Amino acid sequence: MASFAVDLHIHSCLSPCADDDMTPNNILGMAHLKGLDAVAITDHNAWQNLPAAAKVAEQYGIVLLPGLEVTTREEVHMLCYFKGLEEAAAFGEVVQKTLFLPNNKALFGNQLILDENDAFLGEIEPLLIQASSFGVEELLPLARGFGGLCVPAHINKKANSMISNLGFLPLNRPYAAVEVFKKMPLQADTGDYLLLNSSDAHQLGDISEREFYLRFEEKSLESLFAYLSAHVHESPGFF
Ligand SMILES: [Zn+2]
Ligand SMILES: [Zn+2]
Repeated sequence: MASFAVDLHIHSCLSPCADDDMTPNNILGMAHLKGLDAVAITDHNAWQNLPAAAKVAEQYGIVLLPGLEVTTREEVHMLCYFKGLEEAAAFGEVVQKTLFLPNNKALFGNQLILDENDAFLGEIEPLLIQASSFGVEELLPLARGFGGLCVPAHINKKANSMISNLGFLPLNRPYAAVEVFKKMPLQADTGDYLLLNSSDAHQLGDISEREFYLRFEEKSLESLFAYLSAHVHESPGFF
């Protein structure tokens, strides 16, 4: 066992609300400068920058946990993490098929897909910050079907969180953890949940310092994913 510094909630330039210079190389370069051991890139309803980020992460010796931040039908933000790029992409395709409104770049921002050299590959047409058609109760089994884990995002934010939008948090631990936004107080009862502190960075300067640690076996995706998986309560039910 060792302690690893992690930031498991970062947006790339694929998210319309993130800066265009949140490229795979800039994000991983900043994570390297800050001394992070593992990061998750979690774009809104999208996975398309994960392959490039994984390649750059490997060059830096940083673990990349593949993730997405899905907007549920109730406008709750749910982090979904996967043990591989293929699982994240397959899950993401199912989610993205339920997004119907097109992006308005002038209003919401660019949704850039880049390669491992930060070269432009394309853009995503549907607006990624709209709600998917999956409710929170449907999203959990969907993610599990692809071997994934769910973590309610920034539960102490006043919008787009499970507690703000639904008024409750199931305490029987169907989720691997809950994420607490570090800049706001936490007032809710989180029971036995593992608490994650992440940056939710939309610009380079907001990526976490070496300040939040998880203890797991070794610096690898398998080990980090196994650690998070072990925190899910075996009961399959939602309540
Ligand atoms: Zn969010
Ligand atoms: Zn976010």
